Amino acid sequence: MLELQGIPVSPGVAIASALVLDAEGYRIPRCIVPASDVDDEFARLRAAVDLVSEQLEQSRLETTATAGRQTGDIFAAQLQMLHDPRLHSELEKRIGEERQSAAFAVSGVLHNYASALQKLENPFLADRAQDVLDIERQLLTELGAVTRQPLLDLNEPVIVLSRMLTPSETAGLNREFVKGFCTEVGGPGGHTAIVAKGLEIPAVVGIGEFLPVIAGADCVIVDGDRGRLIIDPTDEVLENYRQRAEYRRSLAQRLAQQSQLPATTTDGTRISLNANIEFPHETASCLQRGADGIGLYRTEFLYLSSDEEPSEEDHYEAYAEVIKQMNGRPVVIRTLDLGADKMGHGKRSQQENNPFLGLRSIRLSLRNLDLFRPQLRAVLRAAALGDVRVMFPLITTIAELRQARMLLNLVAEDLKEAGVPYRSDLPVGMMVEVPAAVIMLDHFACEVDFFSIGTNDLAQYTLAVDRSNESVADLYQSSDPAVLRLIQASIDIAAQTQTPISVCGEMSSNPARALLLLGMGVRNLSVPPSALPRVKKAIRNVSIEQCEAIAERVCKLESARDVDLYLLDRLTDLAPELVMQ
Ligand code: PEP
Ligand code: MG
Repeated sequence: MLELQGIPVSPGVAIASALVLDAEGYRIPRCIVPASDVDDEFARLRAAVDLVSEQLEQSRLETTATAGRQTGDIFAAQLQMLHDPRLHSELEKRIGEERQSAAFAVSGVLHNYASALQKLENPFLADRAQDVLDIERQLLTELGAVTRQPLLDLNEPVIVLSRMLTPSETAGLNREFVKGFCTEVGGPGGHTAIVAKGLEIPAVVGIGEFLPVIAGADCVIVDGDRGRLIIDPTDEVLENYRQRAEYRRSLAQRLAQQSQLPATTTDGTRISLNANIEFPHETASCLQRGADGIGLYRTEFLYLSSDEEPSEEDHYEAYAEVIKQMNGRPVVIRTLDLGADKMGHGKRSQQENNPFLGLRSIRLSLRNLDLFRPQLRAVLRAAALGDVRVMFPLITTIAELRQARMLLNLVAEDLKEAGVPYRSDLPVGMMVEVPAAVIMLDHFACEVDFFSIGTNDLAQYTLAVDRSNESVADLYQSSDPAVLRLIQASIDIAAQTQTPISVCGEMSSNPARALLLLGMGVRNLSVPPSALPRVKKAIRNVSIEQCEAIAERVCKLESARDVDLYLLDRLTDLAPELVMQ
């Protein structure tokens, strides 16, 4: 058994066999063959070794001619490794005695070699490990055992283990078969994490390098609650996790029975509990779980999930689908938040040194009006179908907000002139996710109809921590007292100016932190659909007075750790079912 620790980003427990993708997304095969096929596997291995030998010799000759002997020797060394007698006796043992397929044996033996070299912590030998993996790749290719699109042709439940997954790759995961995933890189607030939560796939990111030591496994466990990846668990550990998974299932069933009850505290205060979505198809599960509305529709995923740039009609149809299903309930459409870790199409994406501080979100939209206008037209048109509000992301200056509003007005005039039906009194809001916006919030209040606090970015920009970087993940905490002060300031200004305010960042999906937000004065939360039942349960178990006492205590604490420990303690008292043992 091997246990690795990473960052928990999407809750739940998943148990299945591993689908290991290497850096280029190749699948590493795992296969035991019948005894009658063993000879064939030996023959396949010999043929593959011969072919790879020829290719390496060819590369050695060509490289020596063009780049000199020293460079050509890289391939000479690889050839030597390929013919190493120890390697062959290990391969023969695996195929002959353990009946592994040639590909599975190659993958297992060469990964073990590579990891042994890496463990020596000698830079020269670490480079040799790459050579070993290179030989493995070539042999597997010749054995026809690699597939370049492994995530597309799945037919059994798997847990994906990979160096990284982009938000759009994550969005494209086949939920029927991908039961969980773990990546070497990635931070707690990255959009890969957010999409995983949206898809309800247990996930752990930022584990650090672990793929070289894994060549597939029959059984792996992803513990998305505690951030663990367990490879080949013992029977005892497996049983323990099966029980946890069972507890989760029965809790989910119990909470599902309360899904249509209102999110009302014990003293009768009605909280508006809404859902965050990335795709229209999530609307059904929001309704099923009793969401009061859609508090954040991340429309940029329409771009990220298609190779073509969406047209005005594509936007309109997606919005109309959500609005119609929500049947009169409020829907907050956030305009494109592309850039940083959500890269758009070729011509829109550009290399930047600090993408989270660069041309992202509203800045990118305002510089690309051919991108922004069709979206605004579609929002205005779709708004005629229900209770729709529009919201601009990452607003930092008043000028940006005015520019965005002006463009919205111009687009509305175009629609009017063309006689296209649209909603003329569309409420306009802004996300509060940059400290500069909080500082100037009283001015913004005169220019918008509502605020929504994006704690994911607010934490990132307050604490100067890249939300998707695993190296600084410990610093990335929305419960940091500095972040809490900015949230409190925003709530206070919203109250003074009578501007409705909600919190749609991930902070509100944590039941303990949600209670803190209620105590700080928030009455409107928006959370991923998967978090609706737990957050509603927490709300229905407490009074506002209890929440205010929590907030009063928390504002005296000095670190995120102290805050979270205290909040966990309170949640254990107030809603013990929600605290997993
Ligand atoms: C946020 O920043 O809190 C937010 C909700 O927006 P996103 O996570 O999409 O950046
Ligand atoms: Mg944001």
